[in-house]
Amino acid sequence: MAAAEFDVLVLGAGSGGYSCALRAAQLGLSVGLVEKDLLGGTCLHVGCIPTKALLHSAEVADSARDGARFGVRTTFEGIDMTAVNAYKDGVVRRLHKGLTGLVASRDITVIQGEGRMTGPREVTVDGTTYSGRHLVLASGSYSRSLPGLDVDGDRVISSEHALALDRVPTSVIVLGGGVIGCEFASVWRSFGAEVTILEALPRLLAAEDASSSAALERAFRKRGIGFRTGTPFQSVKTTDQGVSVTVEGGEVLEAELLLVAVGRGPATEGLGCAEQGVAMERGFVTTDDRCRTSLEGVFAVGDIVPGLQLAHRGFAQGIFVAEEIAGLDPAPIDETGIPRVTYSHPEVASCGLDEDAANERFGADQITTVTYDLGGNGKSQILGTQGFVKLVARKDGPVVGIHLVGDRVGELIGEAQLIYNWEGHAADLAPLLHAHPTQNEAIGEAHLALAGKPLHAHS
Ligand code: FAD
Repeated sequence: MAAAEFDVLVLGAGSGGYSCALRAAQLGLSVGLVEKDLLGGTCLHVGCIPTKALLHSAEVADSARDGARFGVRTTFEGIDMTAVNAYKDGVVRRLHKGLTGLVASRDITVIQGEGRMTGPREVTVDGTTYSGRHLVLASGSYSRSLPGLDVDGDRVISSEHALALDRVPTSVIVLGGGVIGCEFASVWRSFGAEVTILEALPRLLAAEDASSSAALERAFRKRGIGFRTGTPFQSVKTTDQGVSVTVEGGEVLEAELLLVAVGRGPATEGLGCAEQGVAMERGFVTTDDRCRTSLEGVFAVGDIVPGLQLAHRGFAQGIFVAEEIAGLDPAPIDETGIPRVTYSHPEVASCGLDEDAANERFGADQITTVTYDLGGNGKSQILGTQGFVKLVARKDGPVVGIHLVGDRVGELIGEAQLIYNWEGHAADLAPLLHAHPTQNEAIGEAHLALAGKPLHAHS
């Protein structure tokens, strides 16, 4: 049966899909938004928001343990997981309610159910076919596993299971030292668990600047978070007590749980797009820099498109596509300029190129770096955090990468992103004012140093 035709039909209401729907409706286009689960997708329900709520509880736990350091007598009496989950779920519920209201207020037609692409710009949901002058694919991603590794949700769990745990495990092996693995390791350690991260690559957060990985590893070591880098996983056996994990070389590690955090795959199986002729690569939908797929009038945004799997990339692409459809000719998104934050304790944040990538792109003799230690930053000393701001710049040219480590530095990444996108030179950036005392000043100090006139740092 054929039903309504929309200006824009969006398949999937996560960060990429709902932002596209909201912006398209704002621009006066009629919008149908197909969703099989809840508006908000992974980020709101099982991603960014609930993990950051857990990380905040973890920070409160650390503060309770650390009170004496700041002259406050506190005792840490433990974690009440029921209350932690109630707080986390409350945050998600309020945001979901807000989003639902927003979608309704913009007259977006929400089509509840599982959609499948059944024509060039058509989606069928429960036997009814909807069409759009434009179709936007935004079905997101799922937690991957490794061949032969069965995620049973009991002893071997994914991030979704981890978010629903009703207890603090006594010990966990985290398979994967990327963003998600490091964030859960950080939470569980603050909650009192024994944690060991297994990472096949030579360092944690291998996509970050090598100096950021080294700083995080130092901090994790100090916190008692164990990690084995360059150590590929081989197999797991579940036992009555938990899991017994064998790594390459034959060593066996035991724990109550194994968290599988080895990345996320594109949720395109059964979506029907390949059958309709949309060009794909390893399950991802391939697009050009205007988010166009190989089919006329069909766009794709978010985690199903190769690249950084981040909510704000999805938001930016969703808005971009709505404006493109409305004929506003938006500027393409510079993928390198997308800010990245790992919200562990300490946080790691970056924008632009790391030093190795900059050396490769421009030649090592054309690149200069400056590292400003947070030891010289008043606010960081007040908070009791260590870390740095590292700038990667072209000699006599713009800053091409900014790397931050330290508690709360994720909040500074907005300025880093402006600097990167502005293609600012040291001479332009050094005079920018930063309020004192803020952690933000560390970015200013780093630029003063880059301009050859360090203030609170040695020349
Ligand atoms: P999704 O958010 O996955 O949304 C896709 C939607 O499509 C879902 O609602 C799904 O139900 C629906 N759908 C799929 N198939 C169909 C179908 N056939 N019919 C109807 N509906 C369908 N990113 C950050 O930027 N910051 C963070 O701190 C962060 N933390 C994260 C922590 C975790 C544990 C995880 C797992 C992810 C995290 N991310 C974070 C990544 C972020 O969640 C994703 O990049 C983002 O959600 C991708 O948005 P999307 O719209 O592409 O897909």
